[in-house]
Amino acid sequence: MENAPIIDGFNRPITYLRVSVTDRCDFRCTYCMAEHMQFLPKADLLTLEELDRLCSAFVGLGVRKLRVTGGEPLVRRNIMSFFRAMSRHLGQGLDELTLTTNGSQLARFAEELAEIGVRRVNVSLDTLDADKFAAVTRWGRLPQVLGGIAAAKAAGLRVKINTVALKGFNEDELFRLVDWCAENDHDMTFIEVMPMGEIEGEDRLDQYWPLSDLRRRLQERVELTPLTERTGGPARYFRIEETGQKLGFITPLTHNFCESCNRVRLTCTGELFMCLGQEDRADLRAALRASDDDAIVADAIRAAIARKPKGHDFDYSRGIGGQMTRHMSHTGG
Ligand code: SAM
Ligand code: SF4
Repeated sequence: MENAPIIDGFNRPITYLRVSVTDRCDFRCTYCMAEHMQFLPKADLLTLEELDRLCSAFVGLGVRKLRVTGGEPLVRRNIMSFFRAMSRHLGQGLDELTLTTNGSQLARFAEELAEIGVRRVNVSLDTLDADKFAAVTRWGRLPQVLGGIAAAKAAGLRVKINTVALKGFNEDELFRLVDWCAENDHDMTFIEVMPMGEIEGEDRLDQYWPLSDLRRRLQERVELTPLTERTGGPARYFRIEETGQKLGFITPLTHNFCESCNRVRLTCTGELFMCLGQEDRADLRAALRASDDDAIVADAIRAAIARKPKGHDFDYSRGIGGQMTRHMSHTGG
């Protein structure tokens, strides 16, 4: 069963929903959160039933891919009931149900995720050095995450490693990380650090390592062939000719990908962000709680998508004032 997608004002079909199911996390990555975060009051969060109702409405409106993220999605209590509920749409409008996770809870949940039809998982991993891992995540422990990744692989899930490129932090591990992914048959994507939220003591400009530089360094040792594949997002893909490995590069600040953007983002409080780089949002929680009528929710979604802007607004040159004031953990990255 296919549902016709909503087409926004710039002729882009919206087929991909990223949903943040919690703003909480068991890590405190330095580029993402302050050590002492003020989290949202529980009453503000959508319940799992409300998330189900809203995400199902999106599937009914032509969304074909759903990525569950956070915060750390797997720390939300009873989150597997939500995954299970969403899996009923697989093959019934939804092509793919997937998640982005820090991997800390994967050993517990990998088999169940595979069983309900999740095929791929993105796991964030910025370093293979245990001390550096503890430093960058503050609360994370590397062996636990490596165990989670191994469990995911053993359960038959395809693992993609997401690595944030951080100046002076993982520059020296570039080849080690790429080789480790090749050895373990993981796809890999590098992410350029983005100016999201203000974190005391951290300056994202200090951490900024442009992927153009990272790529140049890779090319000193390997041959990279650009692939034509695009996903409607900020990722560009290359193949390492020596190994056949596929590498993704997410450079939201230096590349313009907006004309093919196919996605919207839902926060755990039911705000819909039509663009990661803009502040405009629609309050879908109000529509959801106003009535049991799903037609009202569908109308609110349509009206929001009609406002989706043409492009994003990131600009480091404007300094702090030009930064987005919300954290990645709010919109789910
Ligand atoms: N907790 C999960 C995780 O870490 O994968 C899911 C949520 S996390 C916000 C999603 C992705 O955003 C992760 O790959 C993380 O590394 C990335 N991220 C967080 N803050 C970022 C920032 N300021 N710039 C670029 N990527 C960031
Ligand atoms: Fe948590 Fe993911 Fe943010 Fe790290 S990047 S603090 S794991 S939400």
